[in-house]
Amino acid sequence: MQNCQCCVDESAVPRTGPNLKVIGTMSVGYDHIDLAACKKRNIAVGYTPGVLTDATAELAVALLLATSRRLIEGASAVKSGQWGSWSPLWMCGPGLLNSTVGIVGLGRIGLAIARRLRPFNVSRVLYTGRQPKDSAKEVSAEFVGLDTLLAESDFVVVSCAITPETTALFDRKRFAQMKRGAMFVNISRGAVVVQEDLVDALKNGVIRAAGLDVCTPEPLPVDSPLLALPSCVVLPHIGSAAEETRAVMSVMTAKNILAAFNNQPMPAQVKS
Ligand code: NDP
Repeated sequence: MQNCQCCVDESAVPRTGPNLKVIGTMSVGYDHIDLAACKKRNIAVGYTPGVLTDATAELAVALLLATSRRLIEGASAVKSGQWGSWSPLWMCGPGLLNSTVGIVGLGRIGLAIARRLRPFNVSRVLYTGRQPKDSAKEVSAEFVGLDTLLAESDFVVVSCAITPETTALFDRKRFAQMKRGAMFVNISRGAVVVQEDLVDALKNGVIRAAGLDVCTPEPLPVDSPLLALPSCVVLPHIGSAAEETRAVMSVMTAKNILAAFNNQPMPAQVKS
């Protein structure tokens, strides 16, 4: 279970008292809720799939570009007076043109990311998952195994669900399989990554840079070694933080809760 401040875990559910009937999470991920404990107590859990797909995909592309084109480093350099005369390679990073992008988990968000990346004229979009997807045709994405995806991608974007198979999927071995000079972007969940291995991979130049909207724990302590690395951009889990999206998510959450109180089917109930 993800280590974050909002966890509703086995220890938290009993603290809520015997009358708790429903939990509405304003998120598509529900790894912060102990579903087994909820099932035992007959507590319905509602969530908000689909409505945050576009905002999260938009953020993923922004994060990818911020990482590859070194936007945060560049803006800090301006503020700290390090902007000197023009120099051919200062603040350079790889562009998306003619690159290969590998998407780990071509679900709703993964597909929306691929749609947004196509107009940058990437040459190939690869994806991996449990099985090939019909929707991949729309973005001309090729289904490959994870080994191939890592070996061939210039940008690896993780947008899979967190499951026992994807927990700690990105470890030392997986980073070593990536191209030297490749970029790693994670908008899924922090637990997909063995964070110490990512720090080592960045420090040792095994991969070039990383952009993370999610990490472990959240919030990330300010003394985390990740934050000392200029090649790592860490955002505070703001994938869905578009104002319109949060408004739609809150209405959906309210509808989920009201439906449960009225013994009606929830618009989106987590199956347990
Ligand atoms: P979907 O259920 O539509 O997609 C999840 C994808 O994960 C599926 O395509 C699935 O592939 C894939 N997957 C599952 N197991 C594996 C595996 N072993 N290897 C590779 N892929 C796998 O969910 P969404 O696209 O809506 O959301 C995805 C995740 O993004 C959420 O679970 C959440 O954790 C995260 N998220 C983060 C946000 C943020 O703010 N940063 C906001 C919203 C979501 P298959 O169908 O083949 O099993």
